[in-house]
Amino acid sequence: MKELQELAAKLLADGAVQVVLGYEEGPRGVRPAFITDPAQAGRLVFDARCVQNLATYLNPRRKHIVQLGKPAVVVKGCDARAIAGLVRERQIARASVVVIAMRCGGVLQRAEENAALSSETTAARCAGCDAREPKLYDYILGELPPDPPVNASRAEKIALLEKMTPAQRKSFWDEELSRCIRCHACREACPMCFCVQCTAERALPQWIDPSPTLHANRAWQMMRVLHQAGRCVDCLECERACPEDIPLGLFARYIAGAVETRFGYKACDDPAVPAPLGVFSTEDGEEFIR
Ligand code: SF4
Ligand code: SF4
Ligand code: SF4
Repeated sequence: MKELQELAAKLLADGAVQVVLGYEEGPRGVRPAFITDPAQAGRLVFDARCVQNLATYLNPRRKHIVQLGKPAVVVKGCDARAIAGLVRERQIARASVVVIAMRCGGVLQRAEENAALSSETTAARCAGCDAREPKLYDYILGELPPDPPVNASRAEKIALLEKMTPAQRKSFWDEELSRCIRCHACREACPMCFCVQCTAERALPQWIDPSPTLHANRAWQMMRVLHQAGRCVDCLECERACPEDIPLGLFARYIAGAVETRFGYKACDDPAVPAPLGVFSTEDGEEFIR
């Protein structure tokens, strides 16, 4: 922690960055911190409660953050994948951000929890994680902790869904999506949702009915999830943000699995690795693409 606080203070004092995006203690657990004064760097913390993916604040549509100046951002390996995604998709330049990567031993499901990591409390995304030692960084801090306990709840739910008939699966999702209130928190939390105007809010023409009917909710999530194919970094911030506890992480995992099977691509923290749906080749066998 001291190493992180000292580095943040030095980057700010030297003028290398104007703001450090990190974590601090809040009234309900750990929360994002925006440190602009080196004297305030002592507020920074990093532990298993730091669940938030702070790469979402690099998203250029967050103009109130952009105007703070050049940022340094504290990331876990899974968050670093989102920075790579934003660089890959030309939303930010790699040189425009200082990446402070933390070697990671897993996080809790919720920032407001304060429990030991266990197979119940550890975030589902940490199961089988291969990103605990990030490769995308300007600074990397901490010793690599042991593997976190495996929370198999998401894998178990996906296995159950796969066993269902299409009709059973439809009723499962209808029940879940019928609770959606169209707050769009899932989109707001997502580091990879950066459109200046979301298709869900276009009025001329209107693509998706903004009212929270089951029909419109299905269309909304279908669109959101398909737009994440090959782009989603599996940070599960959409699921954590959902006030209705809709298991959006199941969609995230399903679409990532489909892209992996069909294209052999897994979200990674190397911006030079092209995402399959983000490139084309003039040699492509498909006529329509040439
Ligand atoms: S998914 Fe990996 S890098 Fe991300 S919090 Fe879990 S263990 Fe850490
Ligand atoms: S869709 Fe969800 S899991 Fe995927 S990058 Fe966005 S917030 Fe993270
Ligand atoms: S966060 Fe949940 S309730 Fe809000 S729009 Fe997304 S799925 Fe619907």
